[in-house]
Amino acid sequence: MSIPGLKWKTLRGNAGRELRARREHRGMAAGFFLGLSLLFVPCAPAQRTQLKQGWNKFSPQDDINLGKRAATDAEKLLPPCNAPKVDAYLTQLGTRLAQKLPTGGVQYPFEFHCVNDKAINAFALPGGYVFVNRGAIEAADNEAQLAGVIAHELSHVALRHGTNQATKAMLAETGLGIFGAVFGDTTGGALLTQLGSFTAGGVLLRYSRTAESQADVMGTQVLYDAGYDPRALAQFFEKLEAETKGKNPPEFFSDHPNPEHRVGRVDEEVEKLGGVPPNAKRDSSEFEAIKREVLALPVVKKTVAGPPGAVAAPAPPSRSFSEYQASSYALKYPDNWKKYPDSNGGGVSFAPEGGVLDDGSGHSTLAYGLIIGVAQAVGDANDGKALNSATSQVIQDLQKSNPSMKITRQGERLRLNGQPGISTFLSNVSPAGGQETDWLVTVLRPEGLVYFVCLAPQSAYDNYDKTFSSILDTVRFTR
Ligand SMILES: [Zn+2]
Repeated sequence: MSIPGLKWKTLRGNAGRELRARREHRGMAAGFFLGLSLLFVPCAPAQRTQLKQGWNKFSPQDDINLGKRAATDAEKLLPPCNAPKVDAYLTQLGTRLAQKLPTGGVQYPFEFHCVNDKAINAFALPGGYVFVNRGAIEAADNEAQLAGVIAHELSHVALRHGTNQATKAMLAETGLGIFGAVFGDTTGGALLTQLGSFTAGGVLLRYSRTAESQADVMGTQVLYDAGYDPRALAQFFEKLEAETKGKNPPEFFSDHPNPEHRVGRVDEEVEKLGGVPPNAKRDSSEFEAIKREVLALPVVKKTVAGPPGAVAAPAPPSRSFSEYQASSYALKYPDNWKKYPDSNGGGVSFAPEGGVLDDGSGHSTLAYGLIIGVAQAVGDANDGKALNSATSQVIQDLQKSNPSMKITRQGERLRLNGQPGISTFLSNVSPAGGQETDWLVTVLRPEGLVYFVCLAPQSAYDNYDKTFSSILDTVRFTR
C-alpha cells in the first residue's frame, strides 16, 4: 500500500533481537505420567514456536489510539469497496481468526475494511485496524488462503510490530534528522503527537524481514487453531511468486518483505503443529460468492491523493533574501518563505506560503521548498568514498520509505562553499499531484552528512531551480 507523503524508515533496527523463538515442551511431562492413555491421541501438538513481542516504548492502549488515528486517515485516502456484504464477510472471517490470536489479554477493537484496489495487498494498523485490498481477495484461491493473509496481518497487531518499529525509529539518530526535517512544523512535545504526524506516512507499516517471519509463523498457528489448512499462507505466497516471475512483484511483498526461506519456515511450523488436520477447512461457498462479487466491483483508478479542492501554486520566490544561522552553517533564503525549524535541532525546512500542503488527512507535507538535515556519517570532508556511501545511505533511507522515489541523475560532483559535495536528482510523487523533482545535495561535515533537498512539483520546478541554486550559493559552513 502506498499512502502519499514523505515517509521514513530506520535501517538500523535490532532485527536480530526480535525473534526469540522458544520451544515449549508442553505435554511431555503429562505424557510421561499418563503413559498408555497417550497412545490414543493420534498426534500431540507439542512444539509450536513461542513468539515474543519486540522492544516497545508504547503501551497497547497507545497502539489502539495511534491505529485509530491512522485508520481514520487511511479511510479518507483509500477507496472503499462500497460492498456491505464483502465488509460483513471480512469482519466475520477476521473476527473468527482474531479469537484465536494470542493478544496477551489485550482487547483490540478489530475492524476489517475492503479497499477497492486491484493491487494484491493488505495491511493492519496497530490496535487491530485491518485493510484488505480487493486484489488480495481476487488472488486467493480459497477461503483458507484469504484467512492466511488476514491471520498474518492480525499477527502484526498481536506482536505490535508497528509501534516496535516506531520505537526503533524514534531512537535511531539518523531518523531523527530526517524525521525532524520533514515534519519540521510539528511542535514536538509528546511522543504521540509527533508520531501522529507520520502514522499514515508509513513508519507503522514498515516491517523488518524478521517481523515478517514472525507474522508468518503466528499466522500459521492462528490458521491451524481456527480449523483452517495451516499450509494456506505458504500456498498463497508460492502462488504470488509463481504468478509474478519476471514481472513486478506484488505490492504485498513491498509492505511485507520476503524473509529468507519464507515458505520453508511456514512448512516447518505446520510440522511442529502436527501436520495438516484431516478435517482442515479450505474453502466455503460463501468465499466463492464474495469473490464473485468482488470481481464484479467497478475498478477505481488510482489517483494521487492531493489536498482537497484546487490548490493555488505559491507566489514566486522573492529576490530579496533573509538570513538563517544554524549552529554549523549559515545561508540566505527568499524573504517570502517561512522557516520551519526541526524540534530536534538537527534540521530545518524553508517553504513559501502554500508550499506546505495538507496531505488530505490533516498532516503537513512539504511540496515546494528546501529541507536541510544531518544524517549520521563519519568521514573526512575530502573522503570521496565516505561521501559516496553516506549519500547512498540517505538515498536508500528515503527510497525504502518512498517506494516511488527514483534516481533520475546521479553522482555529479559539485562544491558547496568550497566543500566537495554530490548532486543527485530524484523524482517522487508530489503531494500537490503529479510528480515532483527532488534535488539532493550532500556534503560530509564533522557533524555528519549534511543534506539539502530542494523540491517542487516537476511542472513547476523550472520556476524554482534558480532560487535553489542561489540559496545553495549562500551556504557558509561556520566550523
Ligand atoms: Zn507482514
